[in-house]
Order: sequence, then C-alpha cells, then structure tokens
Amino acid sequence: MNAKRLDGRVAVVTGASRGIGRAIAELFAHEGAKTVINYLTSEKNALAVVDRIQNKGGEATCVKADVSKFKDVKYMIETTLKEYKRIDILVNNAGILITEDVLETSEDDWDRTIDINLKGAYLCSKAVAPIMLKQKKGKIINMSSNSGLYHPSSMRFTEYVVSKAGMNGLTKALALRLGPHITVNAICPGWIKTEMIEDTDPEVERKILEETALKRYGTPDEIAASALFLASDDADFITGELLIVAGGRGMH
Ligand code: NAP
Repeated sequence: MNAKRLDGRVAVVTGASRGIGRAIAELFAHEGAKTVINYLTSEKNALAVVDRIQNKGGEATCVKADVSKFKDVKYMIETTLKEYKRIDILVNNAGILITEDVLETSEDDWDRTIDINLKGAYLCSKAVAPIMLKQKKGKIINMSSNSGLYHPSSMRFTEYVVSKAGMNGLTKALALRLGPHITVNAICPGWIKTEMIEDTDPEVERKILEETALKRYGTPDEIAASALFLASDDADFITGELLIVAGGRGMH
C-alpha cells in the first residue's frame, strides 16, 4: 500500500468549518494527518466535517476558538497537544471579507478585519512556533490572497487588502525567524467559489472573469491541493514564498 503524504502528522486548520479551510482539512485527513478543525460560529458544520473525515477512516476533532483572541488560540493549541501530542502543520486560513467601500466602513470594520485576518495568523503562529521549534520540524501555511498583491478590481476592499498585504509580510518575516526547521509560506488564491464571495457585485464578477486567463473561478479543492504540496515533504526547500493560485489573474 502507498504511504500517504501526511502520515503521522498533526495539522491544525483554522476556519475549517466551510469553504477553503474545510477542503484543506478533508484533504489533509485523507492524506493521513490527524486534523483539528477550528471554527468560531458554525459548530454544526464543523461537526459535519469531523464526521465526514471519520466516516472515511480518518482522524479529526473540532475546536471552537476565535483566532483573534490569544486566550482562545492558547486553548486550541493546548487542546490539540493534549489530544495528539504534537503539531506539524498550521494552516492560518480563518478570514473575513467586508466588501463595503472604504468611505462607508467603520473603525470597527477595520479592527475586525485586521484582528481576524492578520493578528489571528500572528497569534496562532506564535502559539505553535515553540512546539515546532522543539520538534525541529513544522510547516506554517498562511492563506493570503492575490488582492494582497496588486490587483485593481480587488483594491476596493481596503481593509481586506491591507490585512492580506500584511499576511505576505508576516510570512516572510516568520520564515526568516523560524528557519531552519520551520517553513512558512503563503497561498494567494484568486477568486474561489465559497460563501465568502456570495454577495459579489455582478459587475465586479464580470470584470474578474474577464481578467482571469482561465476564465473561471477556482475551487476550494484546487487551493487545498496547493496547501497539501506546501505541507508535504515535496516543499521542504521552499520557505518565505507566496504561491499565487489564481488562474492567471494578476500575474506578477
Ligand atoms: P468562508 O467560506 O467565509 O469561511 C471562512 C472561515 O473562517 C469559516 O470557517 C469561519 O468559521 C472562519 N472564521 C471567521 N472568523 C473566524 C475567527 N475569528 N476565528 C476562527 N474562525 C473564523 O471563506 P473562504 O472563502 O473559505 O476563505 C478562507 C480563507 O481564504 C480566508 O482567509 C480568505 O480571506 C482567503 N481567500 C478566499 C478567497 C475566495 O475567493 N473565497 C480568495 C482569496 C483568499 P465560522 O463559520 O465558524 O465562523
């Protein structure tokens, strides 16, 4: 029988109750990782993800935690350690998108976006880094966005764009600090069909498809495949990189 790509690993995936996080958690579990499904509000969905994984013979558990609060993050990491004894992979995936114009958004919108999308990744990385350093092994994958690079039609989501540009900086800074035993990389997805983008203005949608070389949306499974690559031994010599998975939208 072929060995699975993540056999014996323990993975924590934040925001894994739906969308991209769910696809990553299910693929990692399928590849042999004991997987922690983090969620904040969607308990039923998170439990359903755990069920699906267990029904296919995988190992998973779910933990409620707000990634923007260090107390919650600490609880999530301690719970994982108690259950699985180690942490090999952290995917900082949890995120929100506020689509209002910057002239309409509030200070609270800014704070919430930066706190969840950027500070959340910082807090989770800080909490797992000592464990991974002790193990002399670990992989951190940050879910950024190609809107954190430059892309005109996404630039209107100011708070989000800033949070993802920050995520790109965080990725490089942590990669330098946490080497040589820990790798830190980011994925910059283009437009991926999930609940997050359900309310996109049809005119913006049309523009996005027009400027995408492959003329279609990506799927959560396509992002999960890239996350699996970065989490696997195949990516051992890759760190501090931003992997754009966007169907040719916003080539750099
Ligand atoms: P989604 O379907 O809206 O799912 C978001 C996930 O994040 C949910 O599981 C949600 O959990 C969780 N979450 C939100 N706030 C949280 C918090 N404070 N603590 C813990 N979990 C929290 O989004 P998605 O499209 O899958 O996006 C996933 C990631 O990919 C995000 O970082 C997003 O910015 C990025 N991304 C998405 C796209 C796209 O086109 N979809 C493109 C580029 C990048 P609950 O439901 O339990 O609250």
